[in-house]
Amino acid sequence: MRCKSVIVIGSGLGGLSAAISLAQAGYEVTIHEKNPQIGGKLNVLKEHGYTFDLGPSILTLPHIFERLFERSGRKMSDYIKIRAVRPHWRNFFEDGKVVDLDPDPERMAAEARKVGEDPANVRRFLKYSADLYDLVNAGYFEQGLDDAAAFRQFYGLRNFLKFDLFRTMHGGVKRHLKTRHMQDIFDYFIKYVGSSAYQAPAFMNCMATIQCRYDLWYVDGGLYNIALGLQRLMDELGVKVCLNSEVVEVSQENGFVTGVVTRDGTRHPAAIIVSNMEVIPAYEKLLHEDDELLNSLEKFEPACSGLVLELGLDRKYPQLAHHNFFFSANQREHFHTVFRKRQLPPDPTIYLVAASKTDPTVAPAGCDGLKILPHIPYIDDDNPLTREDYMAFKERVLIKLERMGLTNLRQHVVFEHCWTPHDIREQYYSNKGSIYGVVCDRFKNLAFKAPKQSTKYPNLFFVGGSVNPGGGMPMVVLCGQNVAQCIITWDRR
Ligand SMILES: Cc1cc2nc3c(=O)[nH]c(=O)nc-3n(C[C@H](O)[C@H](O)[C@H](O)COP(=O)(O)OP(=O)(O)OC[C@H]3O[C@@H](n4cnc5c(N)ncnc54)[C@H](O)[C@@H]3O)c2cc1C
Repeated sequence: MRCKSVIVIGSGLGGLSAAISLAQAGYEVTIHEKNPQIGGKLNVLKEHGYTFDLGPSILTLPHIFERLFERSGRKMSDYIKIRAVRPHWRNFFEDGKVVDLDPDPERMAAEARKVGEDPANVRRFLKYSADLYDLVNAGYFEQGLDDAAAFRQFYGLRNFLKFDLFRTMHGGVKRHLKTRHMQDIFDYFIKYVGSSAYQAPAFMNCMATIQCRYDLWYVDGGLYNIALGLQRLMDELGVKVCLNSEVVEVSQENGFVTGVVTRDGTRHPAAIIVSNMEVIPAYEKLLHEDDELLNSLEKFEPACSGLVLELGLDRKYPQLAHHNFFFSANQREHFHTVFRKRQLPPDPTIYLVAASKTDPTVAPAGCDGLKILPHIPYIDDDNPLTREDYMAFKERVLIKLERMGLTNLRQHVVFEHCWTPHDIREQYYSNKGSIYGVVCDRFKNLAFKAPKQSTKYPNLFFVGGSVNPGGGMPMVVLCGQNVAQCIITWDRR
């Protein structure tokens, strides 16, 4: 049995998954987390009888989480209770149309007809998405492929065309779906990775299958219960977690990393380091790398940030589903403004969660607690927006929601909490306040993120939204399992 010491910097889901997977392989693992709680962006706010998911609110691909438990001979259901949500999303449009996204083919066909879309188009699109998912999943996801060379080796040149490489994600959507409503809905699957459907490669259309084949899930009591379930598993496996323990330096000697220094000045030696701090901030702030290395990482531009707004209401809005989207009248313009002009959009697409529709324990009786999340640009440090700018944008969001049916919303707010991109960066040290790690962009990086093993220090590894396969809860959990495998293979050499 191996008993090498591993330090994991950060306890986001990627860090937790790596720590658990390495402990299961016999490594002695310690996590250093700067915050007083584990989970990273998987975070919770409990106030005035409301429970809000401050970070993720949609669980997909639970079988990837299940593996963490199975490998220890346990069942996830003994630790985390999940249930499928219906409909998946409710979509509100400026022209007054309301369409549900539902995995049941008959229900989905009826919803498509409401906006004049031939249900056969939806079926054809979902088949296209499923083929892409099976392709991407076989290698990029499950084999943990990290670069073009590994891709070539696994897929062979013959399979390259199957990735629909010459189209954008929107191009792939438009080829199958004819109405603007349906195009807007399926384009917005890109929200899972905080990118633009007009800039992401077409194979990102695999995301519709993640939801339509494997369902969309809620965690009873709120999604933070995933972190609590993983904490229990880590306790059983003997993973040590040091909270309020910020890593301020990674020490190095002869081309290898040797340990970390925490804010209190203590040195902690380790044979292997896994950074759940994103790649760019880690190289910059912990390893003090020069411009040459940092410039080589420029293509790993941050995904978008968000305005994260929680509202406790003194009433319910019966027209809401658990997950809701209020679309921009011109979604192309919305994407363009956020991802090209990098400005706050005048008419954003807004994601709104009312978890009390599924789980009455998260709000007082007769009340809704809303989490509202429009995607907005990451921080421009040369020309940062002020809190006032963000608050003016918040008003715009609330006015749009009132216009689209949440009548007098602002008069019914009894509790409010709001995080801007600056708060998000401060909280998680994410690159420029990004909420999903690295952007998926056809031309910048073809949706590749940074590799899991450092190109400079062989015993330094990365996990989380800034490395392959990238952002979103299931992907970072998979990344944690893949990085552990990568470490075990490297260590055996
Ligand atoms: C508002 C919001 C909504 C989202 N919605 C969804 C959703 O519905 N579904 C979904 O699947 N995904 C969603 N996501 C994305 C998802 O939350 C993330 O992709 C995922 O949780 C990120 O995990 P990670 O492993 O990259 O680590 P992170 O969550 O980024 O955690 C990194 C951890 O490292 C710690 N850290 C950083 N630097 C140091 C240091 N120097 N020393 C010690 N500790 C350090 C941080 O404090 C943090 O705890 C959402 C994210 C946000 C913010």
